[in-house]
Amino acid sequence: MHTLYHALLQQHPRQLTSVRCAEQTIAQLHRYFEDVVLENNLAALVIESLPLRQERSLRDLARVREIGRAAHRAFFFVGAKDALNDLPLCTNEKEREPVLLRRVEHETDFERFVVIADTRFSALLASVHSEEDGSEGSGGDEVIWTFEPDIVYSALEYLMARVTAERPFQAASFSRAVRSSMPKATSLQLTVSVTTKLARLLQEQAGREIAVNRIATAIRNSLELDSVLQTTVNEVGRALNAQDCALRVIGEAGKEPLTNCYFRDGQGGENSVEETELLGDLEAYSVRLAGRFKNYVLDGRSDDQAQHIRPVAAVPLIYQERFMGVLMVRSDDSTRIWQETEILLLRTVADQVTVAVNHARLFAQTQQQALTDGLTGCFNRRFFEMQLERDMHLATRMRQPVSLILLDVDHFKRVNDTFGHDAGDVALRQLAESLRQELRGVDTAARYGGEEFAVILPQAGVEGAVAVAERLRARIERTEVPGVGFITASFGVATYPLHATSRDMLVGTADRALYTAKNTGRNRICTPQIDATLTDSMFDIDEHVTETPDAPEAQAEPSSITV
Ligand code: GH3
Ligand code: MG
Ligand code: MG
Repeated sequence: MHTLYHALLQQHPRQLTSVRCAEQTIAQLHRYFEDVVLENNLAALVIESLPLRQERSLRDLARVREIGRAAHRAFFFVGAKDALNDLPLCTNEKEREPVLLRRVEHETDFERFVVIADTRFSALLASVHSEEDGSEGSGGDEVIWTFEPDIVYSALEYLMARVTAERPFQAASFSRAVRSSMPKATSLQLTVSVTTKLARLLQEQAGREIAVNRIATAIRNSLELDSVLQTTVNEVGRALNAQDCALRVIGEAGKEPLTNCYFRDGQGGENSVEETELLGDLEAYSVRLAGRFKNYVLDGRSDDQAQHIRPVAAVPLIYQERFMGVLMVRSDDSTRIWQETEILLLRTVADQVTVAVNHARLFAQTQQQALTDGLTGCFNRRFFEMQLERDMHLATRMRQPVSLILLDVDHFKRVNDTFGHDAGDVALRQLAESLRQELRGVDTAARYGGEEFAVILPQAGVEGAVAVAERLRARIERTEVPGVGFITASFGVATYPLHATSRDMLVGTADRALYTAKNTGRNRICTPQIDATLTDSMFDIDEHVTETPDAPEAQAEPSSITV
């Protein structure tokens, strides 16, 4: 395809070097070039080829009108279906109207350029976008720019030839405009003003890419959601030089949302005025974006009203068409205009965070599933063993006891045989619910086997554990199971270090006490007899001591106590 970009590179290969930039950056570069005309009221010839669009925002229209008004002559190459064809391009008769040149459409490629020619200043920027190169998010497009009058001159010659061939009836007026604005020199001052902006933009772009990479790395390396979210607000806040940045991820059913904040200069401590105020805004934008799923951008202004404005940009976190939260930045520069590249950065980060949150939740869910029992929702045996190890380790360090209750449903086989397996399942679920209701948060209830459960009671001595077991026993006994009636259970209780010196020994001892409870009539609680050597060797616990057997092996032999 023949384009201005290709024609110039062919003609001036040594003077032009193309640079690869993201589409958003190219759009920003275009605005910088146009700004030279607008900010300096440069009565130049401006020729632009706009990106292919069927719809135009009011912002676009206003920009085209402004350029038409400021420039000596302005020409815009647009597609046949571009909405600009049907929009009024000037607001009153005295204004100069920009001229639209219908360009010949190509299926996949489109070129974008701006040529500015004036006796004081000349500049051009050109790129080609190819849809076939890969869609959005690819490495961007190659772009060239120059302030050399010679090259701008070649560009004008090329464009004259093209208009003559493609739009013969507009060729005369186009040539006239070009001839009256031939580039002669380039004002150093104007050139420097653009190149400084360009350099800053490219540097900022690099800085933001680094920020996005750091966030991506944090996400890959950590399943700790809080640390991912904090890295995110810190990096985004710094990359955009925002006054503050806040992120909220709404909780899963019934859970609190997660909120993280960044404050430049570290002003906003916990519960500070700054934090309260930021969270108020975050709340308001969460409500606003939850219903609309759209970015919210409030730009600053440079007029008298400016001081009342605090520029804000907020983007929603959306996962599978579900609203998941908000990422928001605020600026204390009341004239700040949020750039498209900045909004793009927020969007990219919001998408990454959304994925991270879902990964973390999925991971937590999988972990939960691996450690819980599907039927009763209690922890499973694997978790029980790990937890007992942890609790006993802690008990040793804190010189405190830990007790274990094992309980087994009485004549459960009969329940199944009489009322069916499903009714038996209901009984097990209901028993598990009773355990949850009776126990403290530090206790652990687990399904140890078929109709056998284990309860770990940290910091509980044998008397305390027997009291808990009695509460459980009584509750099970009086709770009717739908479709079954009433059931009972038998209990074995053992305490570390009173009855055992290791985890296996504690479990074995409690199991033997349970066996005794079964053998002595069921629906009761038994504790083992106590070995004096154990109480002497371990730390002292004020405990009720029953008969001490002579032989050490006998220490695990349960003494039947009916409570
Ligand atoms: P005991 O009082 O001596 O404990 O008698 P029991 O009948 O409860 O003891 P036994 O060990 O003979 O039978 C346990 C029964 O528990 C047999 C088994 O089918 C049943 N069971 C184990 N797991 C489940 C389960 O998940 N659901 C149901 N419905 N029954 C189960
Ligand atoms: Mg049983
Ligand atoms: Mg059993």
